[in-house]
Amino acid sequence: MLGSNVWRGMIGVDRATVIEEIDFDEESDSVVIHVRPRRSTKRRCGRCGVLAPGYDQGSGRRRWRALDLGVLVCHLESDSPRVQCPTHGITVAQVPWARHDAGHTRDFDDLAAYRKFIDEAVSRRNRRNGPRIDVERAALRPLPDRRTCDFEEVIVTVTSSSSFTLKKVFYTVPSRLIGHRLRVRLYDDRLELFLGGTHLNTLRRGRSGANGAHGHVVDYRHVIHSLRRKPMALLRLVYRDQLFPREAYGRTFERLLEAGSEKTACRQMVELLAMAHERACEAELAEALAVGLAEAQLPDMDALRRRFAPRLTALPEVVVALTPLSAYDVLLTGDAA
Ligand SMILES: [Zn+2]
Repeated sequence: MLGSNVWRGMIGVDRATVIEEIDFDEESDSVVIHVRPRRSTKRRCGRCGVLAPGYDQGSGRRRWRALDLGVLVCHLESDSPRVQCPTHGITVAQVPWARHDAGHTRDFDDLAAYRKFIDEAVSRRNRRNGPRIDVERAALRPLPDRRTCDFEEVIVTVTSSSSFTLKKVFYTVPSRLIGHRLRVRLYDDRLELFLGGTHLNTLRRGRSGANGAHGHVVDYRHVIHSLRRKPMALLRLVYRDQLFPREAYGRTFERLLEAGSEKTACRQMVELLAMAHERACEAELAEALAVGLAEAQLPDMDALRRRFAPRLTALPEVVVALTPLSAYDVLLTGDAA
């Protein structure tokens, strides 16, 4: 039998949750883990987290969907007593394994896991209705040509720092879009950007933090031009950690800050990022930086500049064979010349 700590790890809860019993429910075809909050956890309001006196046992036992255990579906089951909150009145008490009003554990806050859960639930239900749907399908009209509208359309203006903020998430876009008004189609997982009727770009959709903190979806290539003008801005960027495209860049910046002045560190780091973008050598440069980090050496800027300099001699010689204009006469006269 596995210990409680192993089980806690597998279902993604911490020590505030006590596992009482584990069994298998034939009816729902799932592993059911009976849990309760640790005795020392005081009852709190599920909505605001304030300590509150108990009220009653609520609706009795309740289940929360947890992440799968391999191929097995898993639920947590527990009492769901209610408390009397001074602000919110009678509410279900807080539990350590799930958010208030959620039918799933905190792990499901991970979007990917949540989507998988929805897909499974829908397909299970559809499977049950399969024969009936088949009967109806014969009498259905064909689907419309276009899919239904599953996005929200918003207009944003790109700021002078080639960015915009939408639903508490900060996005960067190519600097040529500064000052333009873009139409944004906001999907569940992505943003499609349009200028007039022209599709420009697709961005991954970001999410703001649970505590109301802004999210950031940033690309260093979008802001490198403004950073070049003001390298010191790098020091104060709130999204700096997301800016570095690979780990080696972030660590190099830390090393540069430790070793010298902030000014030099920012200037060199911006030059490295610009090099990665303009010479299209992001991965190669990251490797070079990683070697330097491993040897506890600061980047040798001159050597890197030489190594990643544009190769003028490598320009190909292009020979353009011009067609004599008289050849076009054939098109007008129809005569072969
Ligand atoms: Zn409350």
